Amino acid sequence: MYKQSVQLIVDKCIGCTNCIKRCPTEAIRVQNGKAQIISDRCLDCGECIRVCQSNAKIAISDPLSVIDDYDYKIAIPAPSLYGIADSHISTDRILTGLKYLGFDDVFEVASAAEIITKRTNEFLSRNEGRGPFISSSCPAVVRLVQVRFPSLIDHIIPFISPMELAAQIARNRAGSDKGKVGVFFISPCAAKYSEIRDPHRKEKSAVDAVIGIKDIQVSLQRLIASDMETEKLAMASGAGIGWGRIDGEARALATEGVISVDGISNVIALLEELENGKIDQFRFIELMACPGGCVGGPMTLVNPYVAKSIILERWDRKEGVVCEECGPMKDIRWTEELTSCNFMKLDDDYEKAMMMLQRLELIEKNLPGIDCGSCGAPTCHAFAEDIVRGRNEITSCIFVLRKKIRQLTDEMIKLEDALPYRLDKNE
Ligand code: SF4
Ligand code: SF4
Repeated sequence: MYKQSVQLIVDKCIGCTNCIKRCPTEAIRVQNGKAQIISDRCLDCGECIRVCQSNAKIAISDPLSVIDDYDYKIAIPAPSLYGIADSHISTDRILTGLKYLGFDDVFEVASAAEIITKRTNEFLSRNEGRGPFISSSCPAVVRLVQVRFPSLIDHIIPFISPMELAAQIARNRAGSDKGKVGVFFISPCAAKYSEIRDPHRKEKSAVDAVIGIKDIQVSLQRLIASDMETEKLAMASGAGIGWGRIDGEARALATEGVISVDGISNVIALLEELENGKIDQFRFIELMACPGGCVGGPMTLVNPYVAKSIILERWDRKEGVVCEECGPMKDIRWTEELTSCNFMKLDDDYEKAMMMLQRLELIEKNLPGIDCGSCGAPTCHAFAEDIVRGRNEITSCIFVLRKKIRQLTDEMIKLEDALPYRLDKNE
């Protein structure tokens, strides 16, 4: 079973039902006044975190103190980290700030992204005439395809993420004489915690922990503004840094026939068109679940539009430094096939599933069809499905309940009228 990173802070949830309407896979229900996440359906896209005005939803991450358990600590920052400081502040300075926070070394995920760009170009050339192919860099999109568009699984480029590749390179660089080595992803993303615990593309993730950008941003900005001496640490060029925002990955490919789409509902709309065969003019499709790409991830604090423009300004950074340790990283393909996690299936047994479907349709026919959400499900259809799956009772629908109360009242009135005269209240 999928273990999602997004969690509810129960005391903060006021049961407003805002999140159930915005969840792209209908993975949230409100029951007994509190939101509940159905793990099998969750993408960790962070949409519910963004819409909850009570701040009742969070993405799990590790505190900075987690690095104390390791002898040699390596930070692998996401390219979106560079959006926290104006573009005239060098990436060297931001990375130096990370070392001042307690890391012994840094290796940029942007550098790994450059390797993946090169491999993607090779992959596209090898598969000329096939496709369109979807980037695998956003784990929320990969999971979306698994749970909602399983027929498109073969369209996903089967490469590990830049985070995973960066972690493997960082470990190789550290060598074997540093004691216990810890690799820490500095993350904008709600889905990465789940990715490292369940890395379907490798048996074990090379990342030890995920630290949210928002948890270190203020300290890092303070260090950047201090008189610390800047070290020469940056290796990535603007093409790798650009991956921090939507369009960065597609642009880095420098090829024709690419399209970039951000925001989970836009991504779903595009995948629906792809599934229906309406889109075949593209070779490469970059899809990012968050608005603006990773700069809009739920573990960032900077306004995504501001961060997007900063990342764009950093695009002009000269050629990156060739990473010697990157040479041996020949194989970046997933070691395991991506499988479907189709949550729509009502039961594995075909006959049982058909009977459940018939019951579902019958229940739905008797619901008002206005998707009001007061039953705690996002739509009347989802509510009917909850009933056949045994997750809810028909009387949770206030319209059905009102109808039942009215019927009972009518029956009681009829019974009262039928009382023998001498038992009548006016007797
Ligand atoms: S948006 Fe969801 S999690 Fe937030 S308060 Fe409303 S019901 Fe609770
Ligand atoms: S767009 Fe980036 S931050 Fe958002 S879910 Fe995808 S990988 Fe994570």
